[in-house]
Amino acid sequence: MMLVKNGQSVATVVLSAQATEVARYAARELTYHVEKATGAQLNIVAEGGEPADTAGKIYLGPTSAARNAGIDPEKLLPDSFTLLTKDNALFIVGRDSEGNPLSPDTWAGTLFGVYEVLEQSMGVRWLWPGELGEHIPKTGAVMVPDLSKTVSPRLIIRRLRSTLRDWSGSNPEDSFSPEAMKQARADEAKWLRRQRMGHSRKMRWGHAFTDWWDKYGKDHPEWFNLLDDGKRHPQGGGGASAGMCVSSPGLHEQIVSNWLEECATSPDSKPNINGCENDVFGRCLCDVCKSWDPLRKDESAFPERFSQFGIVSDRYARFWRTLQEMAAKHDRDAIVTGYAYVNYAPPPVREKLNDHVWIGLVPRLVLPAHTGGAQAVHRHVAGVGSDRV
Ligand SMILES: [Zn+2]
Repeated sequence: MMLVKNGQSVATVVLSAQATEVARYAARELTYHVEKATGAQLNIVAEGGEPADTAGKIYLGPTSAARNAGIDPEKLLPDSFTLLTKDNALFIVGRDSEGNPLSPDTWAGTLFGVYEVLEQSMGVRWLWPGELGEHIPKTGAVMVPDLSKTVSPRLIIRRLRSTLRDWSGSNPEDSFSPEAMKQARADEAKWLRRQRMGHSRKMRWGHAFTDWWDKYGKDHPEWFNLLDDGKRHPQGGGGASAGMCVSSPGLHEQIVSNWLEECATSPDSKPNINGCENDVFGRCLCDVCKSWDPLRKDESAFPERFSQFGIVSDRYARFWRTLQEMAAKHDRDAIVTGYAYVNYAPPPVREKLNDHVWIGLVPRLVLPAHTGGAQAVHRHVAGVGSDRV
């Protein structure tokens, strides 16, 4: 099917009158690249207003025409898409959700379908963020070969952490101007989408217990870690450095009960259970927590930073698995996430996780002497879905 011939547009982009933001943005991305490659402009029209000529039609997102061609986007997995050519029409139909097309939380199957066509049929590549990184080969003709395929992401979470930082506090001359920073962030967000980054499931990571000491510390000190001064309290100055007593049944129940409340507010897109500690070592000295740690003969083989408070990976593995098993009684699909900080980053020796427990490894934690507080340095965070930490 021809989109452009002899430098002239010979196709029209068609959107449903109720098209999502994702489909509208996909149309803009398609026409932008075709114009850069050929100089030709593809018209965008609402379904029902297609020109009566025989020129090709490119249907983006859910439309009546796509349904008549047998494509049901509701049957596609999140962020997936179908590409189909039929009777001089090209259908690019994905499983999208409402929301900002550039947000990694928005499902953007239709947009990813457009990127697939741009890469495969026009040789487009996005080498780095910004216009300078766009590789769009010039041509007088764009032809899409016969297509009939459905593509799904191989990874549920596809994400790169931003490298953009505002260093203006240290040395203004080394930093971006406010305008340049805004542009760099926008370029980066666009580029990440062009690489199909996103979350096909709503996933919660990040410190889960920063407000727990203030909220629950008074009534339930037993949910917090027992330290070597014989008291239960945060490891540093404030609640943001609270560490938990991860063997506490009351803690488990409160976490699951809070999660059930969240699920009730968004039943169509349930979150995972976030079991990520704040930036802290596993330090609870209570008898139950200690009884969850087997004797480790290999402890001395690890560098001191792992072993100064003892290696407690088994108690954390049991903590996360316990949460998952409790949650699974309400939702078989429930996923628990956790960060394995330093002294619980080595693999456990007795406990097993299951495949609904996902752990990010954080093997470094820096304790600045002047604050007494803990700060993690996420130098090597790797999300893994596996039966082991
Ligand atoms: Zn404990």
